[in-house]
Amino acid sequence: MQKTSNRKLSLSTRVAQALHFLDDETGAPVPPIQLAATYARDESYEIRKPYWYRRDGNQTTDHAEAIIAELEGAKESFLFASGMSAANAVIEHLPEGSHVVIPKVMYHGVLDQFQMYHERKRLDVSYYAAGNLGEMASAIRQGETQLVWAESPNNPNWEVTDIAAAAEIVHNAGAKLVTDCTGNPPCMTRALDMGSDISFHSATKYLNGHSDVTAGVLSVRETGQFWEDINLIRKLQGTVLQSFDAWLLIRGMRTLFIRVERASENAMTFAKHFQNHPYIETVLYPGLPSHSNHDVAKRQTDGLFGGMLSVIVKGSEKVAFDVARFCELFYPATSFGGVESLVEHRKTVSGEGFPVHPSLIRLSIGIEDVNDLIYDFEQALTRANS
Ligand code: PLP
Repeated sequence: MQKTSNRKLSLSTRVAQALHFLDDETGAPVPPIQLAATYARDESYEIRKPYWYRRDGNQTTDHAEAIIAELEGAKESFLFASGMSAANAVIEHLPEGSHVVIPKVMYHGVLDQFQMYHERKRLDVSYYAAGNLGEMASAIRQGETQLVWAESPNNPNWEVTDIAAAAEIVHNAGAKLVTDCTGNPPCMTRALDMGSDISFHSATKYLNGHSDVTAGVLSVRETGQFWEDINLIRKLQGTVLQSFDAWLLIRGMRTLFIRVERASENAMTFAKHFQNHPYIETVLYPGLPSHSNHDVAKRQTDGLFGGMLSVIVKGSEKVAFDVARFCELFYPATSFGGVESLVEHRKTVSGEGFPVHPSLIRLSIGIEDVNDLIYDFEQALTRANS
């Protein structure tokens, strides 16, 4: 008889069981929360490795990191207190004056960070249109560019970058590729498999999935001095993910596969329903064959297209603004990737300077009954247009 323990289990099984956690003493299948900020030395006054002080990580954070490393096929993952602090550690580890290449449109917080470092002459930043590999290649300086940042799908227009092709371009120039695939969590896209050097996620979104934690994570296959430097920045700044948040993240990740599947199904139904709607100009969703990067998305996202989409509403900016505020079921809140659906008028949220269509409404489709979501958005559209 074959034993199950000899079988190669699927990733979804291992993640649902938090890597088959079992407390040897009590038999509990749920991990405890390790809250200690400090650790006592042993009788010889030596540190009992691996823990000595909370800023270096602890058992609960390590457990969450091990699950993410498994999901990503990574050698190591580091969790931070937010996506922004993880992105900042990547930026901070670069030597002064480094040349970096980033998308013109991407998550506005990370874009602002790069721009601030550029303005202070700490970094030299060049830009490309998200998903456009020709522009990316032209912006790269052979042998000089240190890092290229790609966001796929790109927020809030949902352009998809061909990660394998981007990695080839970036590596040929001697640079490193960092991918932010927050909108496509690793159950859809494993960026390291496609050649990305650092896979980054705001774990606040799909990985946690319940809108009750902010967290960011970096994962790599190859470690080295750069990885040690990033770890040191986390330690010096104290931006490691705290215990209770790590525990919530572990709990959230156990349902990752099923949540993302349901959100993707809902988003596809929603996108199809509204794609030829009289009050809507365009639906931006990589799952629709009309989307300019549909073929790349299909190859790269394991048959799922995620829960994020945007719609450009016909008429004035005021109409779009009203649609967002007239929704009754969608929460008018920022962020995404939670079980509950969210709506936002993106221009209002990302500020005047950010290049976004004034009538773009960003929707995070959750796991509710999609007919209720469609009904709610229909009534908001009708009310805004009457
Ligand atoms: N990257 C993307 C694509 C995001 O959407 C966000 C936040 O919305 C971040 C990074 C920043 O992550 P956090 O909010 O966890 O700091």
